[in-house]
Amino acid sequence: MNDQQADIIIIGAGMVGSAAALSLARQGYKITLVEASEIPQWSEDVYGLRVSAISAASERLLIDIGAWQKIAERRVSPYQSMHVWDASGTASLDFNAADSGQACLGYIVENNLINTCLLEQINGMPNVKLINGARLSGMTWLDDCVEVKLDSGNEIRATLIIAADGGNSQVRAHCGISSSRHDYQQTGIVTRVRTSLPHEHTAWQRFLPTGPLAFLPLADGSCSIVWSADKEFAEQLLAFDDEVFSQHLAEAFEHRLGDVELLSSRAGFPLILANADSYSTERVVLLGDAAHTVHPLAGQGVNLGFQDVIDLTSILFEAVQNGRDLADPLYLRKYSRRRRADAGMMLAGMDGIQRVFTSQHKSVQKSRNLAMDLINHLPGLKQFFVNRALGN
Ligand SMILES: Cc1cc2nc3c(=O)[nH]c(=O)nc-3n(C[C@H](O)[C@H](O)[C@H](O)COP(=O)(O)OP(=O)(O)OC[C@H]3O[C@@H](n4cnc5c(N)ncnc54)[C@H](O)[C@@H]3O)c2cc1C
Repeated sequence: MNDQQADIIIIGAGMVGSAAALSLARQGYKITLVEASEIPQWSEDVYGLRVSAISAASERLLIDIGAWQKIAERRVSPYQSMHVWDASGTASLDFNAADSGQACLGYIVENNLINTCLLEQINGMPNVKLINGARLSGMTWLDDCVEVKLDSGNEIRATLIIAADGGNSQVRAHCGISSSRHDYQQTGIVTRVRTSLPHEHTAWQRFLPTGPLAFLPLADGSCSIVWSADKEFAEQLLAFDDEVFSQHLAEAFEHRLGDVELLSSRAGFPLILANADSYSTERVVLLGDAAHTVHPLAGQGVNLGFQDVIDLTSILFEAVQNGRDLADPLYLRKYSRRRRADAGMMLAGMDGIQRVFTSQHKSVQKSRNLAMDLINHLPGLKQFFVNRALGN
């Protein structure tokens, strides 16, 4: 094989594409990983603005591919509890790791730290070639492979192409796979704050009529904020000066953690629900946000993407064990069916919660308070939600 030939080409070296490269490289495949932008680098002095709540299942994947050790020795924030409450009612929900015999429910980790540690691992893998600063510009299906053209002029052929190029996937577009899409008309505002009361290693979430507001505990005692708000309101929030924004934030959070002091800039992300009609086609599979985009209210987006990596790795292993080609349609369809079913459940669940909690109807408000009380007092039902959060 030469540089123009690989077993697998992965388009997109975000968290999901890079994890897929490492997981599949461990099976000995020759992999070319293509990334259009500069890969975000972590720095100890500056907290990354974007963080993820990493589940136990994702942690296991990151351990397997050798990245978790590097992440954990730099900066992670384990959280032991979750407290969720409704702005228009009295009900609340509490989840504790100790109730299910776990040390924590998950970890809050900066996205750029995950990217950095995945990249360090990739640099140590002789069978992964990273092409950085090049964008996919074309795909041609040949008899026994696909030829990928990059805007840098490179032409590479591979048996299998993995689309990990995010919500606006060009690979998905080239393959003609459509995606059902719903724009929540909301913006997720992220920033970092110091609170006058301790965060108690708890992930806090208050459901407001305009969307959920989360305070996620960070290792230095500060909190990462994800405030999902209707677009117009979000524009106002982003335009306020730091002091006015902090006052609005503390009020929207009922001063539950006291006064709030802004520690970073703010950024807004459009909130979209999307699910591709299929996660595979001839010699191509979709992973991560290229396949599905979920509302961030339960912090499950990248966890779903990591589960795609776990399932794809085991299905390709099975295909090869059974003497089949890496891109055998039977196995690619198996991947698509399995992951669409799992992601579909999560997408529908998160969408349902989002709709129920933003409803202004009195009857819906009453029912959701009853439902929260019920979940909080029925151990079996509560355990189900804890298991979903842990990724079990
Ligand atoms: C406000 C907010 C908060 C969130 N919080 C959480 C959370 O707590 N927990 C959680 O699990 N998830 C969370 N998510 C979701 C999570 O961030 C995404 O699911 C995750 O980043 C998707 O990763 P990905 O690698 O699939 O895609 P991306 O991160 O979008 O990566 C795609 C990569 O492909 C590259 N690319 C794109 N096009 C091309 C091309 N043509 N050629 C080459 N390269 C290309 C891009 O440059 C990029 O690096 C949140 C999302 C938002 C908006």
